[in-house]
Amino acid sequence: MINQERLLHTFLSLLEINSPSRKEGAVSRVIAEKLTQLGCSVVTDNAGSALGGEVGNIIATLPACGEGGVDILLCSHMDTVQPTEGIRILQEDGIIRQEGAAVLGADDKAGIAAIIEGVQSVVESQEAHGQIQILILICEEIGLLGSKELDMSAINSDLGFVFDSGQPVGHLVSSAPTHDNIVIRFHGRAAHAGVCPEEGASAIQAAARAIAAMKLGRIDEETTANVGIVQGGSARNIIPESCELRAEARSRDTKKLDEQVAAMRKACEDAAVETGVEVTVEVTREYLGYKHAATDPLMEFGLRAARSIGMESDLVAHGGGSDCNILNAKGLPTAVVGVGYEKIHTPEEFISVSDLVRCAQYARALVRASGKA
Ligand SMILES: [Zn+2]
Repeated sequence: MINQERLLHTFLSLLEINSPSRKEGAVSRVIAEKLTQLGCSVVTDNAGSALGGEVGNIIATLPACGEGGVDILLCSHMDTVQPTEGIRILQEDGIIRQEGAAVLGADDKAGIAAIIEGVQSVVESQEAHGQIQILILICEEIGLLGSKELDMSAINSDLGFVFDSGQPVGHLVSSAPTHDNIVIRFHGRAAHAGVCPEEGASAIQAAARAIAAMKLGRIDEETTANVGIVQGGSARNIIPESCELRAEARSRDTKKLDEQVAAMRKACEDAAVETGVEVTVEVTREYLGYKHAATDPLMEFGLRAARSIGMESDLVAHGGGSDCNILNAKGLPTAVVGVGYEKIHTPEEFISVSDLVRCAQYARALVRASGKA
C-alpha cells in the first residue's frame, strides 16, 4: 500500500533542498540515502564532472524478487528551474504549492517521490518484481544534459518510464518530435544611415525579409517552427552590419522536419541575395524523436500496469522533448508518464496530494507488473 504520509514527507523534504542544474549535490545525497535504505545498490556516473556540476546521475539497482519478470527502469530528474531559494510551501485544500516568487519544483521532485514510494511499497509487501533500476538525472532543465551524458553501460533494463509530464496522472507519451536548433547569421555592410546609406547593406532588413517569408508556428499536426530571438544592429544611425536569429523546428516526422528546416534555410538565402548580404545557417539536431505503437511491448506493459489499478491511461503524442527522447535514442525503449503537476516553471506551479498519491500508485503498479512474466 502507498503510505501517503511518508510519500508527502519525502516530497516536501526534497522540495526544501535547492537543486539548480549543476548544483544537485545536496539533494542527490538525500535521494541516494533513501534508495540505499530500500536495498538498492547505488552508483553515480561521471556526468557531473563532464558537465561541470557537483554530482553525476544516480543509478540505483534493486535486484529482482521472485522468478522471472521484466527488468524495468523508472526515471526522474533532480534539478529544478530557478528560483527555489527561500521557498515557502503551502498545503491547503489538498493542494501543494508555494507562496512568493519561487518555483515549487514539483517538476520533477514529485516524480522522484512517487517512484521512491512506489518501489518502497512493493519492497515492504515482499511481492515479486523484476530488477528495478531507478535513474535520477541531473541537468534536465538546461537541455537534457544529464541524460545525454548518461553512461549506458550501467543500464541493463528492458523497458523505461520517465516520470516527467503534467496532467493527467498516468498518461503515457507514445511519441515525441525530433528537434533541430537553427542559428542564422546575416552579415551586411555598415554605413552612416544619413550620410551614405547607399554604401550599406542592412543585415536587419535581410533578417526581416527572411522571417516574413518563413512559415512559422504550427505547420501541421506534428510539425512546429519558431524564431525565438532576433539580435542585431549597434546604433540608430548605422546601417546594421550583423543580425543573428535563433530559431527551432520540431516534427514527429523527420522527413517533414527536414523539409521545414530546408524551407527556413532557403528563406534566409533568398533574403540575403535580395538585400546583398551574406548569410550562414547552422543547424544542430538537439534530440531525436520517437514513436511507440500501442502494441509495442513497452506500451502494452504501461497500459497493463494502469489497468491493474483501474487507472485510465491514454497514449499521447507530445510536442516537446524530454529525457525520454535521449533514452530511446540510446537504445532503451522508454515512455514518459504523467505525474500530474501543473503550471510548471512558474510561481503558480502546484500538484494535488491526490494526484501525487495516484502517481505513486502507478509507480507501484509498474513495479508489480514487472514481476509477472
Ligand atoms: Zn521536468
